[in-house]
Amino acid sequence: MDSKNEGKQRYYKPRAEVALDIEDMENFVYDMSRCIKCKGCTWVDHTYMPGAKFMTRCPSATMYEYDAYGAYGKMRIAHGMAEGKVEWNDKALEIMYACTLCGACDVGCKRNLDLEVELTLESIRVKAVKDGVGPLPAHKKIAENVKKTGNMFGSSKKRTEWIPADAKPADKADVLYFVGCTASYTNHEIAQSTAKIFKAAKVNYMLLKDESCCGNAIFSSGMVDEAREIAKKNVEAMKKSGAKKLVTACAEGYRMWKVDYPKLLNIATADLGFEVLHLVEFVDELVKNGSLKMKKEFNTRMVYHDACSLSRLSEPWTPWEGKRGWMGCVEPRLKRRRGTNGVYEQPRDILKAIPGVDLVSLPRERENAYCCGAGRGTKEAFPEFAKWNANHRLEEIRDAGAETLVTACPMCKNNFAQNVKENGNDMQVMDISEVICSAIES
Ligand code: SF4
Ligand code: SF4
Repeated sequence: MDSKNEGKQRYYKPRAEVALDIEDMENFVYDMSRCIKCKGCTWVDHTYMPGAKFMTRCPSATMYEYDAYGAYGKMRIAHGMAEGKVEWNDKALEIMYACTLCGACDVGCKRNLDLEVELTLESIRVKAVKDGVGPLPAHKKIAENVKKTGNMFGSSKKRTEWIPADAKPADKADVLYFVGCTASYTNHEIAQSTAKIFKAAKVNYMLLKDESCCGNAIFSSGMVDEAREIAKKNVEAMKKSGAKKLVTACAEGYRMWKVDYPKLLNIATADLGFEVLHLVEFVDELVKNGSLKMKKEFNTRMVYHDACSLSRLSEPWTPWEGKRGWMGCVEPRLKRRRGTNGVYEQPRDILKAIPGVDLVSLPRERENAYCCGAGRGTKEAFPEFAKWNANHRLEEIRDAGAETLVTACPMCKNNFAQNVKENGNDMQVMDISEVICSAIES
């Protein structure tokens, strides 16, 4: 076949032997080529559609109002790259990174075509790094900070400064609390509330020896080699600790440990050798078995915002490789991750168990929730994008009449809190650990 037609052959014959391996974008050329531009990745399904005001699911397409920024646009550009027809330029790079990798598009597409949109978007960033054009300067800075100081902020302060005098992490315990960079440096209130919850439930917990960054922004911006080294180091340290359960109050750290470390290490979540739990899963169990009593009233009209990394992106990982045949059917069977099995009930059950809480629904919630705009290294690279999307989501939250906005991710909390403050609004923005803590304190 001459070079003129080479691209066409790729279009009609995407690779037949495939794997869910984001390190090779060729694995997702089929998904890119079979996108029918139906925009299910952009709009909330009409069966759930809450009306004209909040009908979009993609922060990127909603803010930029241009097809190229939607998942379908990104996939079309990358398909052109795979065919050798499109090359990287500054705009293409911006389009690929002005996106929170929130997974809303993946959920929408899988209701139509079962295309692996989220993995395709991740693989495009890996390609950007391999091609020498990515990541963005803000991501490189985070990677440098982590290398030099072990934390994403480049802070020279002690990571354990958050520990209050009355908290006594054990040297050895079955439960290991992974604090994460934000709770260790910028959001002590989350780490301290978590420690108080453990104390109230008489849970003996330990910390990781010389804890360092989980590598979220490094992985999310496509630097997989660096992220794999972090994954190996952290998983080895966790195994060495002897703890059976890793508990974290950070949604993004949770996703890294539960989904992306296994993805990077080519193992299943079930084979990690320990359990990964978000604080809400751990506390839900404690409340339901009577070990933690939440008696103190909190009289407020409350909204719970589903953080992407705790909800649709949190389904366990299982490596897969096989063949794609007629009509795109794959062999062996592939169990798709469609976002429906995220952590949705536990935080709601906890909040509903607090006396006085009036928990109200949002038009877009659970797997259809609209991302706050901050996660996965996006706020650091595109602060205006994060701000615009936080304000769009806050409008929906205000319309629900919320007095208190609760989330289970420090990135969401900080992005919302900053914009609530700048807008002069009196809505309370809290992490769920703080809400639980206020309900158990006498
Ligand atoms: S929902 Fe899927 S098939 Fe439809 S436009 Fe989006 S990526 Fe393409
Ligand atoms: S991951 Fe989120 S922001 Fe990015 S294209 Fe998909 S829906 Fe849009």
